[in-house]
Amino acid sequence: MKIKDLFRKNKTLLSFEIFPPKKDYPIDTIYHTIEELKDLEPDYISVTYGAGGTSRDRTVEIASKIKNEYHIEALAHLTCISSTSKEIDNIIGSLRDNNITNILALRGDMPESGGDDAVSEEYTYARDLIDQINKKGNFSIGAACYPEGHMECSNRIQDIKYLKEKVNSGVDFLITQLFFDNELFYRFMEELELAGIDVPVSAGIMPVLNAKQILRIQKLSGCSIPPKFKRMLDKYEHNPEALKEAGQAYALEQIIDLMAWGIDGIHLYTMNKSETARKIAENIKTIRKISNKNKIETMGDRNEY
Ligand code: FAD
Repeated sequence: MKIKDLFRKNKTLLSFEIFPPKKDYPIDTIYHTIEELKDLEPDYISVTYGAGGTSRDRTVEIASKIKNEYHIEALAHLTCISSTSKEIDNIIGSLRDNNITNILALRGDMPESGGDDAVSEEYTYARDLIDQINKKGNFSIGAACYPEGHMECSNRIQDIKYLKEKVNSGVDFLITQLFFDNELFYRFMEELELAGIDVPVSAGIMPVLNAKQILRIQKLSGCSIPPKFKRMLDKYEHNPEALKEAGQAYALEQIIDLMAWGIDGIHLYTMNKSETARKIAENIKTIRKISNKNKIETMGDRNEY
């Protein structure tokens, strides 16, 4: 099923993001994780697309397995900034051949100078990729958005204007970059409304597993660290078990607040750790059910008028 149709069912979607193991690791390790994630009844699982060609072939293979063997909806990430349009056409063709109908269309991070990848002459922004996927037809297309603004754009309002152009080019839903301060996300949602961007948005939440990971992510994404979160990192950074527990509790609190607010979807950056996903999913079982029911009841009320 297309993800845009899952959103139309008017329930709060729960999705998990996984990444393919590096080429020199056996691919089977990820299948064990997917099997465990399946028990948590996600609405879909997304598979990232690696930079530098490291694990790119594996994205289609894993997404295909999720869809055709585990019978869970799959979302394949795809980036364009270091590809040719012929390469992208081939991947779109393989996705179609494997019955995958959902693509998260991304520009990708700019390749490092002197690295293996060169900047494509055919793509500048994610929008160029979205146009191409649309021409190939019949995919539900998602795109990335940034509650605190994208790193390369110094003006958040301008970033939202570009986002609007991207959505208007044929995007069905958005997934946010991770954030640790829900208030910043709510401000962003107001800005989207003012800008007339009305596709469903899933909030990207990452449970912290270790302090090093957070410093790396903060450097890559530019996301801010609220005082409450910093206190937690400072207090437990030298005790991995305690930090993991605290990180899960923090993510859970964020999710509960988002669900109470009426979020369209929660997208959990699982870092391939099913145990953390399980703890969170189990703790929101009833909330998830109630949240879905409330949405459906509200829709019923609307239909009466
Ligand atoms: P775009 O939407 O093209 O935006 C990139 C920049 O260009 C922004 O600063 C924007 O403001 C600016 N811009 C857009 N349009 C214009 C215009 N017309 N004129 C001037 N400036 C413009 N990366 C991977 O390599 N693999 C993955 O699997 C992956 N998955 C991701 C999943 C999610 C949910 C998110 C949030 C990010 C993911 N990324 C992934 C990272 C992503 O590739 C980077 O954040 C990248 O730097 C931007 O990609 P984009 O699609 O948002 O780019």
